[in-house]
Amino acid sequence: MGRVPQDLKVKVPDPRLSIIDRRLRRVKRIIIIASGKGGVGKSLIATTISLLLARGGRKVGLLDLDFHGPSCHIILGAADAKPEEARGLVPPEVHGIKFMSMIYFIGDRPLPLRGDEASDAFVELLTITRWDQLDYLVVDVPPGIAEEVLDIIRLIKRAEFLIITTPSALAAKTVARLSQLLQELKVPVLGLVENMCLASEGMAQPVVGPEVKLLGRLPFDTRVEKALGNPDLLLKTNFARSLEPIVKKIAEPTLGARSVGHPVRSLGPGD
Ligand code: ADP
Ligand code: MG
Repeated sequence: MGRVPQDLKVKVPDPRLSIIDRRLRRVKRIIIIASGKGGVGKSLIATTISLLLARGGRKVGLLDLDFHGPSCHIILGAADAKPEEARGLVPPEVHGIKFMSMIYFIGDRPLPLRGDEASDAFVELLTITRWDQLDYLVVDVPPGIAEEVLDIIRLIKRAEFLIITTPSALAAKTVARLSQLLQELKVPVLGLVENMCLASEGMAQPVVGPEVKLLGRLPFDTRVEKALGNPDLLLKTNFARSLEPIVKKIAEPTLGARSVGHPVRSLGPGD
């Protein structure tokens, strides 16, 4: 078949988009754990924040959207749980968290997805997942300004971003680029977390700029590795303890309130 000339393409609205809105209607806050770089601790922080919120009595969902390197299920020890089919997919509850990940569909196989395919898988996952009522939906995303991150900005208007970096000029520079994009698109940014700190001095804030508030710094903690897959042990680490005050700040109405009623942002065509 020949290619369809550009001007003959008719844009049909994707019916799944209105379903996503409905699926997320009873979710109070949607928090995206993002970074310019990989390996800075996004998955570990997304999972630990979810555990801390759940232990604090909140209704929490955790969505692993890193299709290329899903890892929240390893940190949670959630590989055996399975979603249930009931007018959509009901995420299994693992350690008090409703958990959904592409891992349930692909297992340990690699999933090579190109831009449009990643977008489609993302929309599908959001369309079929029944979160029902949640105080928080925490979303772990791939590094940088990946397709999935742009999709979130486009599709989930209420998303608030928590940006993770390490005390490295390389990580901070890429994070500065991400935070600039988010600010340009008027996406609410809750703040910055500097992870795997060895010294007491931080360095990310000056690179990222004063517009993004530093919410806290987390130590490099050698006990974390042994605690992967064991949430009870993970919550006893200095890493998790240092995350507690940050979670309190995120839950504060003042920080959350800044994200309410933001103007709809545009990413251009397809929006
Ligand atoms: P990302 O999701 O950003 O790629 P991960 O959450 O997978 O990063 O973390 C990368 C690695 O670093 C993992 O092995 C994780 O256990 C480890 N790690 C992250 N933060 C810390 C920390 N504060 N102390 C010790 N190890 C950490
Ligand atoms: Mg990750």
